[in-house]
Amino acid sequence: MSDTNKTLLRGAQVLGGEPRDVLIEGERIAAVGTGLGADGATVIDAAGQILLPGLVDLHTHLREPGREDSETVLTGTKAAAVGGFTAVHAMANTFPVADTAGVVEQVWRLGKESGYCDVQPVGAVTVGLEGKKLAELGAMHDSAAGVRVFSDDGKCVDDAVIMRRALEYVKAFDGVIAQHAQEPRLTEGAQMNEGIVSAELGLGGWPAVAEESIIARDVLLAAHVRSRVHICHLSTAGSVEIVRWAKSKGWNVTAEVTPHHLLLTDELVRSYNPVYKVNPPLRTEADVMALREALADGTIDCVATDHAPHPHEDKDCEWGAAAMGMVGLETALSVVQHTMVDTGLLDWAGVADRMSTRPSAIGRLTGQGRPIAAGEPANLTLLDSAYRGEVNPAGFASRSRNTPYEGRELPGRVTHTFLRGRATVVDGKLA
Ligand SMILES: [Zn+2]
Repeated sequence: MSDTNKTLLRGAQVLGGEPRDVLIEGERIAAVGTGLGADGATVIDAAGQILLPGLVDLHTHLREPGREDSETVLTGTKAAAVGGFTAVHAMANTFPVADTAGVVEQVWRLGKESGYCDVQPVGAVTVGLEGKKLAELGAMHDSAAGVRVFSDDGKCVDDAVIMRRALEYVKAFDGVIAQHAQEPRLTEGAQMNEGIVSAELGLGGWPAVAEESIIARDVLLAAHVRSRVHICHLSTAGSVEIVRWAKSKGWNVTAEVTPHHLLLTDELVRSYNPVYKVNPPLRTEADVMALREALADGTIDCVATDHAPHPHEDKDCEWGAAAMGMVGLETALSVVQHTMVDTGLLDWAGVADRMSTRPSAIGRLTGQGRPIAAGEPANLTLLDSAYRGEVNPAGFASRSRNTPYEGRELPGRVTHTFLRGRATVVDGKLA
């Protein structure tokens, strides 16, 4: 990694605006202006490139401890840096589960050692993700990892009393429960979205109501106990309506959408290619359009990758046996450019808000998601938005290759990522 103390980004379009020079000194932005002197700094010609605050992911599966065959904290944070991220929240469904101070501290320490990206561990809501008994939420918060986001992601906290207690508990330290909304009984044997395609293919359906009913219950619970709930990976038009209603009431509800739910539909399942198997499943074109509109108008607060690496043997099998999930860190910004910016739904300032400012605020991170201004930490992402290229998983920094975009042309390429002033990516390659 480059240890250059001073870097001058020449002519970068800050949040897509007019060209500016941005001087980085040590860990911070020293100046933003025009015609800044280079004065011994490493100069990067950023003309025509978009400068964004370093991206923040609320939903990453780093798989360590326990599934290092699919990803490690080191390989996952490398993938994050390549994708323009400077902070990720590491989900708790590891082996062992991150349900104690010891495990979250282990993940937090591995993140520090990786040096590519900040790693904020997410703590499990219940012991072993079993949904029966609250995990040590307070101890995880009080640990060195300082956990504020709790989730049983991969599983739904389906017991209403447990969910209520968790929401009440985290109020003491301004925590948030991130819910994987999936009513378990309604999704038994589910293989894909329930609809016309599932009926034609004869595959078990995962109905929209299984997501929407849990979201409806949880926004009501959060309002009832005056706590904070975050909805993971919203995937249906109906879910959008519920979140919009909850927000209109002034309740403390936030929501995320994944890049793949902004682009892909259940029509792809006709290929029986397990690369399209994901939870929640790919929905319909109408859902995709509703999700895009909701992200544009702010009903959905942020994009979160749900980066879910799986080894080849868990995906290269028949549809029914394949694991659910897709990698997403290295393609997220390109998919958002393609679906939101190139369609005119969001400008670059909007992308900065939905992929950095808001996710950082939801996770209560400090030093991330900050404005690009003098004195702020130099967590930055430089993007060549004019680039067009086919996705080639062979070149991924992630240990896994289960991308649904292989061979697809997507716009945009992260050329540089800076973590507190240090380049983690230079010219599109890990530094
Ligand atoms: Zn999930």
